[in-house]
Amino acid sequence: MSTQSLSSTQTRELVAIDPANGAEIGRVPLLTASDVNAAVRRARQAQKDWARRSFRARAEFILRAREIVLARVEEIATLIARETGKPPAEAISMEVAPTLDLMQHFARHAERMLKRQKIDIGQFGLMGRSSYLVYKPLGVVGIISPWNFPWATPLDEVVLALMAGNSVVLKPSELTPFTALKIGEVFKHARLPEGLLEIVTGDGSTGAALVEAGVDKLMFTGSVATGKRVAEAAAKRLTPVVLELGGKDPMIVLDDANLPNAARAAVWGGFANAGQACASIERLYVHESIAKEFTELVVEETQKLKLGQPVDEAVDVGSMTNERQLRIVEDHIQDAIEHGARIETGGRRVENSDGWFHEPTVLTNVDHSMEIMRDETFGPVLPIMTFKTDDEAVRLANDSIYGLTAAVFTSNIARGRRLAERIDAGTVMVNEVVYTHAIAQTPWGGVKQSGYGRTHGRLGLLELVMPQHIHTNRVPWLPDVWWFRYSGQAGILFRGLARRFTSGSVMNSSLLLPKIIRRWFE
Ligand code: NAD
Repeated sequence: MSTQSLSSTQTRELVAIDPANGAEIGRVPLLTASDVNAAVRRARQAQKDWARRSFRARAEFILRAREIVLARVEEIATLIARETGKPPAEAISMEVAPTLDLMQHFARHAERMLKRQKIDIGQFGLMGRSSYLVYKPLGVVGIISPWNFPWATPLDEVVLALMAGNSVVLKPSELTPFTALKIGEVFKHARLPEGLLEIVTGDGSTGAALVEAGVDKLMFTGSVATGKRVAEAAAKRLTPVVLELGGKDPMIVLDDANLPNAARAAVWGGFANAGQACASIERLYVHESIAKEFTELVVEETQKLKLGQPVDEAVDVGSMTNERQLRIVEDHIQDAIEHGARIETGGRRVENSDGWFHEPTVLTNVDHSMEIMRDETFGPVLPIMTFKTDDEAVRLANDSIYGLTAAVFTSNIARGRRLAERIDAGTVMVNEVVYTHAIAQTPWGGVKQSGYGRTHGRLGLLELVMPQHIHTNRVPWLPDVWWFRYSGQAGILFRGLARRFTSGSVMNSSLLLPKIIRRWFE
């Protein structure tokens, strides 16, 4: 991180709190619009030289940063745990390890993914013309990120943006600024040139300032409500935006699924990160013939989980990251109970604690009239509903404003895939949950109100470049037949083109040759 980013023009501060015990972690400046504009200017300046560097040269910085992360895994995981309340082991499995993989993958393969690409232009190719694409850096990429994966979400995007030849201005969540500053520290130690990664700490006002600051692309990850505000503000400048928003991700358990494994998957998918993952399992649909057995297994697995201080290595579920989210969880459970839901286990926040802990909760007797099945809960709650047919399962899964990920559990892979392709979601996993964010090669992103655009994989990298089309005519001495002047002969030829050339058949088009030759000598 450029150290200038921290010299705010004013003195308002953010206080970072450890959500598991309420202790202050530290303070960072709440940067203003003029700080953000200055950071964007520095980033723009630094990007010019960076764009000229080879992929190999850029990769050296990423791989050096990766070595630093590797040497400091424990320190980084502890910091993530302190800012979010998740167990350090989970910070490693869900955040640090995936980023280590992603760093090496894009350092090694971005060049291949962005290499010049020939376009087959069909019959125009027979006329001495050719086309190719080059992928150029965009310039300055603004990243606005949330608190739930404060290391992986921004770092992944930083790596892709840098490898594509851009500079970055990152505005992390106000709840987790120190994890983002650690990313900056890592790159500083990796000797990334000043200005290429600017970190602007602050709240929503700082994020809004970044949207207004004239960056070349915005990568926004956060809630639907904020995403809409960001898209609206960005539209005023026509700044392109990728929106990675919320989810209400369904998991369907078919009658032929391996029930013990499906139950364990559901419990991890619902309660990992204390349920605060955009791809958390938030709706469970189970075939009625196995619902009783499956629910018992889920409850049994849930009751085995240890809830507590994340520093304890035996703890599975730590605290939630903020009290606002905890209240949403309580409200959703309350609403469900008032409408007839039954608590199978859990159901309450942990009282007499300095932290924001909520018991992993399993609900049954739920339906789509309840908030718990419609709105993003973003907490440790698994509501279970039954279905009778595959069609009904698909209909229930698709009855949502969201579409980030979904899961289908079955022993019949073909049946699982058939169902998967009918679900409206950016990613559908067969016999898996949540985790494909950790696969650097696969695209991540949603449909409907879960957002648009992609991160990760080649599709994610392509979001961070400008595909430029270069077209060449190798016969510069020959005029095009469609140029001026128009005449009766020209009209006949154009009608022939419309009929024959557009058929896509070379044979058919060749019948036009006499007319073309006549036109040249016209
Ligand atoms: P949030 O929308 O409250 O905040 C996200 C970021 O936007 C923060 O950095 C915040 O400071 C900033 N911000 C707030 N107001 C802004 C404004 N007007 N202009 C610009 N920036 C502004 O979200 P959150 O509570 O931090 O994160 C939780 C949400 O993120 C959940 O809905 C979750 O599903 C979603 N999420 C999605 C993905 C994904 O990949 N789809 C990943 C992680 C989290």
